[in-house]
Amino acid sequence: MATTWPTDRATCFAALAREPVSFTPWVDAPTANVCAVPAPVVVQASTAAMTPTLRTSCPMMLAWARFEPEMQRLAVRRLGSEIAKIHHYGSYSCRRMSGNQRRMSLHSTGQALDISGFSTTDGRYISVRDGWRGRRDESAFLRDLGQTACGHFNVVLTPAHDRAHHDHFHVDIGPWRFCGA
Ligand SMILES: [Zn+2]
Repeated sequence: MATTWPTDRATCFAALAREPVSFTPWVDAPTANVCAVPAPVVVQASTAAMTPTLRTSCPMMLAWARFEPEMQRLAVRRLGSEIAKIHHYGSYSCRRMSGNQRRMSLHSTGQALDISGFSTTDGRYISVRDGWRGRRDESAFLRDLGQTACGHFNVVLTPAHDRAHHDHFHVDIGPWRFCGA
């Protein structure tokens, strides 16, 4: 069964406010039919700075916020340092799925997030593109992170899945379950 998160604005905002996330409502978010974002938020930072500032749905950010303690634990274990910045390619994009043109991407409603890399508090940058097959500790961190993410999101796609994800992790909270880590 796919996990669900609250899409109702009041319920989700209250839940997100209990997490260490600084966010504001995304007031000019798209509202038109197939590309409307449920409970849209602008996120400046969580336990790490979102780089750049993230525009997404509240349920997507809630799922990510609940995953972050795992990310920080793995970073300390594998890299000896916490994550200070999360680098991403964005959450919202009104488009069809890259692998299935008949379906709208989960990005079209801000229910997906593409993560491209991580900066540690001691100044290292680990990109998904170079780290996946790179230094032993960076590769271990990214591979562990992908596996762990499968317990927190409905879909996880990594460089282990296909060429389209050679430089980022895709995580989403859509209706299907798939672990491509
Ligand atoms: Zn994606």
